[in-house]
Amino acid sequence: MSEEEKSLNFIEHIIEDDLSSGFPKDKLRFRFPPEPNGYLHIGHASSICLNFGLGLRYNSPVNLRFDDTNPAKEEQEYVDAIKRDVDWLGFSWDAEVYASDYFQQLYDWAVELIKNGKAYVDSQSAEVIATQKGTPTQDGENSPFRDRTVEENLALFSEMKEGKYKEGEHVLRAKIDMTSSNMLMRDPLMYRILHKPHHRTNTDWCIYPMYDWTHGESDYLEQVSHSFCTLEFAMHRELYDWFLDQVTVDTKVRPKQREFARRNFSHTVVSKRKLLQLVEEEVVTGWDDPRMPTISGLRRKGYTANAIRNFANTIGIAKRENVVDVSLLEFSIREDLNKIAPRVMAVLNPVKLVITNYPDGEEEWLDAENNPGDDNAGYRKVPFSKELYIEKEDFKEEANKKFFRLKLGGEVRLKNGYIIKAESCTKDAEGNIIEIQCTYDPKSKSGSGTEESLRKVKGTLHWVSIKHAIASEVRLYDRLFNDETPDQHKDKDFMEFVNPESLKVITGFVEPSLKTAKVEDIFQFQRIGYFNIDKDSTAEKLVFNKTVGLRDTWAKLQQK
Ligand code: ATP
Ligand code: MG
Repeated sequence: MSEEEKSLNFIEHIIEDDLSSGFPKDKLRFRFPPEPNGYLHIGHASSICLNFGLGLRYNSPVNLRFDDTNPAKEEQEYVDAIKRDVDWLGFSWDAEVYASDYFQQLYDWAVELIKNGKAYVDSQSAEVIATQKGTPTQDGENSPFRDRTVEENLALFSEMKEGKYKEGEHVLRAKIDMTSSNMLMRDPLMYRILHKPHHRTNTDWCIYPMYDWTHGESDYLEQVSHSFCTLEFAMHRELYDWFLDQVTVDTKVRPKQREFARRNFSHTVVSKRKLLQLVEEEVVTGWDDPRMPTISGLRRKGYTANAIRNFANTIGIAKRENVVDVSLLEFSIREDLNKIAPRVMAVLNPVKLVITNYPDGEEEWLDAENNPGDDNAGYRKVPFSKELYIEKEDFKEEANKKFFRLKLGGEVRLKNGYIIKAESCTKDAEGNIIEIQCTYDPKSKSGSGTEESLRKVKGTLHWVSIKHAIASEVRLYDRLFNDETPDQHKDKDFMEFVNPESLKVITGFVEPSLKTAKVEDIFQFQRIGYFNIDKDSTAEKLVFNKTVGLRDTWAKLQQK
């Protein structure tokens, strides 16, 4: 068993253990809790597949919970994008819920805590509070406001809520232990004043609960049984439990927080803050730029939900952080598209080829198989004529025996068409080849059943008929960062590693069957790679995104 498989099971082990010690299966409930402060990225896919995967496995409800406690950064646009992405990934949530749904309940509980002497209003600045926190090896010191009377605290907290104070004037803190070895237990903040309208509650509130105070109580209110979060919250678990202790009733399910490792991916960043910076500084065209590691960027680039799910399930859930090679994601999409993408011909780096013995003005429509791997995919017609484009790199005047493409005096088959022989070529003043003259064997047409059509030649080239080809915009993408771990350098900012050549736009020539293709349709450009139709396409001009090349670099890495 691999390390990944072992770690995939550790979450399931937690649940299995709970079930075998008597936890009722019908009380299992999970949630995926994004903060609507950006678009979902490939790291979130791990958490989505984990939580929704458990839902499917145990036939339990999974909530989509928006953790919307910071109006300064959250927006409706992000809520909409997150819902779209989770849905597109193929998962259905039980309830769509918001931490902001619980603002009143949280407030009421906070009042209870004050009454029970478990919370107090502190009126010091954030800086002073920070200096009193101490260090892991040095106790913190109590705030001079720690022993305010219950009445005073209640009055101040109520006035905070009513908007009587400016931001930073007061905060509500839990009264726990300023000498705790866990710094998070040293009287953590529960509320701060923010005079900012919220995307859902508008100006109803000007005090907002902190993450720790909100998350566990939201889990409890929704009766989530297992609350999985990433490792940086491991130290928060004690506080999560302390807050639950203040509100839980025996008859209800007490949620359990457990942690797994955040996923990092090579040659990219997965932090909404950093992705937002790329958008704001216009390094990319938006959150769904095909170079972005966002779900919507990957989707626009041609990734399928199936490939992303397979990828997330393959890398599994780990206990320790490590960097996942993006070529593994490319492997997943290649595997999926190989099965489903129709094959077409497109020439991206054209050179003209003239068949000198083919009649002028004639054209014929050849049968071309849509997907040799899929018997039901059928055939289409592709036009053939005297003047064609082939790829520049498919022709050399002279080449050794290993060059299975076209060379002077040599033969190749034109895919779905005839065997041709290169006779001569024409060059411009700089010595660049601008035209290749060939002859063809009229009896060698593919599928015609003649002896000549069955003749084997070493190479097969893709091509398009110049007269019929559609000139299209083709966007070729490279990695967004030149460095494997752009945001893990102590002395350098991740922005320094942005690859200035991550996008190359060229004109490619595609066969005319693509005229009717629609946005998001995806094709294999034979011998090149997978390409889909971008939403920027218009009636006048098709725009293609390169999804991934055909070459399987990851499999090669594995063989090393
Ligand atoms: P970011 O830094 O990208 O904003 P976040 O953790 O603040 O990440 P949330 O919206 O709070 O983002 O995340 C929702 C859920 O997805 C959380 O449970 C979080 O732990 C999980 N998650 C976020 N990023 C990753 C990642 N890279 N790998 C695995 N899980 C992740
Ligand atoms: Mg966050």
